[in-house]
Amino acid sequence: MGRSSKDKRDIYYRLAKEEGWRARSAFKLLQLDEEFNLFKGVSRAVDLCAAPGSWSQVLSRKLRGKDKSEEVKIVAVDLQAMAPLPGVTQIQGDITKISTAQEIIRHFEGQSADLVVCDGAPDVTGLHDVDEYIQAQLLLAALNITTHVLKPGGNFVAKIFRGKDVTLLYSQLKIFFSSVTCAKPRSSRNSSIEAFVVCQNYSPPEGYVPNMSNPLLDHSYDVDFNQLEGPNRIIVPFLACGDLSAFDSDRTYPLQLDSSKEYQYLPPTQPPIRPPYQQACQLRKNNLLAKEDSPSGAHDDALSSLDL
Ligand code: SAM
Repeated sequence: MGRSSKDKRDIYYRLAKEEGWRARSAFKLLQLDEEFNLFKGVSRAVDLCAAPGSWSQVLSRKLRGKDKSEEVKIVAVDLQAMAPLPGVTQIQGDITKISTAQEIIRHFEGQSADLVVCDGAPDVTGLHDVDEYIQAQLLLAALNITTHVLKPGGNFVAKIFRGKDVTLLYSQLKIFFSSVTCAKPRSSRNSSIEAFVVCQNYSPPEGYVPNMSNPLLDHSYDVDFNQLEGPNRIIVPFLACGDLSAFDSDRTYPLQLDSSKEYQYLPPTQPPIRPPYQQACQLRKNNLLAKEDSPSGAHDDALSSLDL
């Protein structure tokens, strides 16, 4: 695939480069904020599963403001290393591990977070049941960490796959938040089962003691929660969000968007720092790969396969 054809096929990928975001996912958080006003009054935030860092960039720009407020505390966590960002403390770790949760809690030094966001996605296997299950595990791990760090009344936003077990997840979330909405930003492709749960007003059950156990691993929960019927079945509102005049992520746009401005190809804002395909690039450079004429723009293609 040529460099410009990716720009044509994916409008948000192109806009991300033009506006200096590390990934197109930045628009998902921006559009969620447009609808839910997520950043109002927030000075401490946690970004779980943050690499390559476009959500952390959004938090950094929106919360720290023009005067780069030092009061604001943002902690970003990911398995992968991430290039540094102003005002963002990074932890390289697995969010399903208690040690990572403890490290995040330590960073807040006894204070609570106002907002926790999680755009976590596993490496997709293509086996839908497995992918949905792992995604649900990540969400519950994020919820567990959230119960340790979020202040009462605080908000939690997380990526969710709207698969067949989604009711179980809604049930779990409704235990901790008075309002749970499933939102689909314009920048998230309709062809993807991805959506985001926006959980507002953290209010854990009285006497709840945060822990790191994960109920999805206990299959009796499936029977108890997911098979609920009638009025007991948890139904959360579904909301398409983002300005209706915003770009449609499923459409292909011409390269020259504005007749007064000529199209110019831009490289990604932050190329991956230790990409898994680094060795292959090295081999290709030294003519040691069987296919010598693989397409150019390795970084672009790697980003596109992640669908960020
Ligand atoms: N929000 C990010 C952004 O805007 O740049 C993109 C996040 S990307 C879609 C998903 C991330 O989840 C990957 O960087 C991956 O390493 C991370 N991830 C997956 N499983 C994880 C885990 N168990 N612990 C921490 N991070 C994890």
